[in-house]
Amino acid sequence: MAEPFAADSAGRQVMTGLAKLGIALKSRAWQEAGAQGLTPTQGQLLALLRLRRRRVSDLAEELGITAATASDAIGALVAKGLVAKVRSPQDGRSHLVELTPAGVREADRVAGWPDFLLDAVDVLSPAEQAALLRALLKMIRVLQERRQIPVARMCVSCRFFRPNVHPDPERPHHCTFVDAPFGDRQLRLECPDQEPAPVEQAERLWAAFAGSAALLEVH
Ligand code: SF4
Repeated sequence: MAEPFAADSAGRQVMTGLAKLGIALKSRAWQEAGAQGLTPTQGQLLALLRLRRRRVSDLAEELGITAATASDAIGALVAKGLVAKVRSPQDGRSHLVELTPAGVREADRVAGWPDFLLDAVDVLSPAEQAALLRALLKMIRVLQERRQIPVARMCVSCRFFRPNVHPDPERPHHCTFVDAPFGDRQLRLECPDQEPAPVEQAERLWAAFAGSAALLEVH
């Protein structure tokens, strides 16, 4: 008889749980997008543009879709009056995509699509939420390194992040961008102010965050 509780079952159960959450998010995105006359991709583009304007190629990379797919979706959003293309101030030959005033309102609505999950997250204790966030950060970082997930603008790979530099266990980290301490529960997975740290610094930040290296200095 096969072993009913195999040694790797926890890993597989986590994977199954994450897959179920992914299905729930996808199905909610289709429902909400359909009700607002959008496709899920158009909705995701609006959510990204809510943070800041970007080039089409950057949007494609962040969503893990082809430039052609991103271009088609942007064209549809332009036709709906939700986004516009403007010349880049850095390079007059390239264009940036930005939200129109109607697009800002639509993007605010889109940003609420995953909120149904908040009720489920709220049943976790603050310590459980912090532990879950750390675990997600770890997984996303590995997938990012393997190029199996679009790049996320996370604290752990940000040049302004200083992990474990304060003695306060509630707020051990420091953000030099806003010059303020913060805790695990405030770690960002998508921050508009994030600037990627150079590879070597990113490695040191991760080691200090994961607790396998000495504390860094705040500045
Ligand atoms: S700028 Fe944003 S991503 Fe970077 S450390 Fe501060 S809060 Fe985190």
